[in-house]
Amino acid sequence: MKTLTKVLKYVVLPLLIVIVAVLFYISIGFGKLDFKDDFPVTEDYAALYPESYEAARDDFRALSAELHANYENVQYFPLWVPSETDADLTIDVCYIPAQGDSLNLLILSSGIHGVEGYVGYAVQEFFISNYLNETFLENTGVLLLHAVNPYGFKYHRKVTENNVDMNRNSPSTVDLYETHNEGYSLVYDLINPQDKVKTNSLENRFFFIKAINEIRKKSLPVLRQAALQGQYTNPEGIYYGGEAPEPQIGLLSPILSEISDPYQKIMILDLHTGYGERGKLHLFTNPMEDDEKRKMERIFDGFVIDWGDSDEFYTITGEFTSFVGAQAPGKDFYPMVIEYGTLDSQTTMGSLKSIHIMILENQGYHFGFASVKDSMKVKADFLELYYPDSESWRSYVIEQTQDLFDVVLPRFTMHE
Ligand SMILES: [Zn+2]
Repeated sequence: MKTLTKVLKYVVLPLLIVIVAVLFYISIGFGKLDFKDDFPVTEDYAALYPESYEAARDDFRALSAELHANYENVQYFPLWVPSETDADLTIDVCYIPAQGDSLNLLILSSGIHGVEGYVGYAVQEFFISNYLNETFLENTGVLLLHAVNPYGFKYHRKVTENNVDMNRNSPSTVDLYETHNEGYSLVYDLINPQDKVKTNSLENRFFFIKAINEIRKKSLPVLRQAALQGQYTNPEGIYYGGEAPEPQIGLLSPILSEISDPYQKIMILDLHTGYGERGKLHLFTNPMEDDEKRKMERIFDGFVIDWGDSDEFYTITGEFTSFVGAQAPGKDFYPMVIEYGTLDSQTTMGSLKSIHIMILENQGYHFGFASVKDSMKVKADFLELYYPDSESWRSYVIEQTQDLFDVVLPRFTMHE
């Protein structure tokens, strides 16, 4: 009996205290988003970032007007996105046709995931100011799509007013909305809590333990695929792809067909943030046939492409670049998603942190917050996930974009 008491007192109890302390330590670290970026800052690059959706749109319109004055047959116009609450939400389109032969078309799209439009705009402005010139336009047209999900950009959501993820809603086949995501029910309870958000609740503080326990049972690739692929059954859940096309799809479809018609070769670069190693530019695309893959690898040679078929990655349904391709059938098509990493989602902790922030934001939107403080914390974290405040991060994003564009754009526009 005495030995047992001793064991309890000197072994089990201290061990428990250490475990609890470690868990608390991790939980505090888990709740914090403090990155000390030390990428070199270029003032001009950091200055590209807009203050708001409206500011970005004003600047985009001013740049479009300049292009209209400088080149032949430039068209620029807003497309009004219908809304229950806001009569001034637009996708802004600017099309600069090839000034000589119409051989190649470059499409640069931003804000499919609303709040990611801050960075998307900065990259679009950087492209216009540094690459769009007479030489570039000789045989290449450029189509700029600004804020494909203006509601999400303006109100800092990733999804549309209908809680729809546009990058799961863009149809390239008719049966998209009947897609059955078998794995979603496995993760449903974990990723869609149904009550007011209380950031300090034990459940949230120890979210990572709950999640790791699920991972232990089902493996991370299975869960990631289930959660991220897109789902068409739970309108209040995350990664909801809708039950029909969002209005944007109907607005863009005829424009995409008409503009791409004269061109042979079409590339879309769709701009996103939030996935991958912090500060790094990532390229990814859904799996492709071998010959298509080789074609992409030639253009992007020297850069790593995530093909969506490795263990570390996932495939999605209803994504925007495939929809764009479907509007231009029979063309030589190069779809690519550019993601700028923010929270190190390539690590297990980083990916759990990212999804936890998404969960809380969605939960708060549907079920409210326990306090103003909770609301402010979740909204600030959410913005940080898609639009980091760090000047160093912002500047480095543009620097890497330059490295990519310098190499890839000439290869794309080159005559063969
Ligand atoms: Zn995105």
